[in-house]
Amino acid sequence: METQGRLIVDLDRLEEGEEIYEGETSPDIIDLDEKVGSIAPKGGIVYKLNVQALGTELLVRGTLLQRFICNCSLCDVCFDLEVKEGDFVDSFEINEEISFLDLTNEIREVIILNLPAYPRCSESCKGLCPQCGVDLNKSGCECKTEHGDNRWSALDVLE
Ligand SMILES: [Zn+2]
Ligand SMILES: [Zn+2]
Repeated sequence: METQGRLIVDLDRLEEGEEIYEGETSPDIIDLDEKVGSIAPKGGIVYKLNVQALGTELLVRGTLLQRFICNCSLCDVCFDLEVKEGDFVDSFEINEEISFLDLTNEIREVIILNLPAYPRCSESCKGLCPQCGVDLNKSGCECKTEHGDNRWSALDVLE
């Protein structure tokens, strides 16, 4: 069994009932092929989880965090993105025949669900001018069109 860089709970060691699992998975457990844009992990998933065996159930609670490097979907600048789940809760069925439980896929799913489809370098990013391509965060331009807020221009068309 390949265990390197994965999150594997040793159920035999949990006989006392409860344990804190703290560590970082290997970065390459994340496969981002299905995601749009350029986004790459800077490290693995950093986890701090309280793992508790309750009869036939394993209760897992805690925090997950992973850092990525990606390009802003509006202005294309490269920036660091932190994806965090501060309130991860999940439960798994266990029995006496299982000695190990691999939770890597579960925590990976949570991180992928929390990844923004259109990452932005900041909430107030102005993006690029659609006409001349200048970065409107850095300077203005002479284009006649009103830049305004891109999010509302689609609504203007509807009116
Ligand atoms: Zn931006
Ligand atoms: Zn312009």
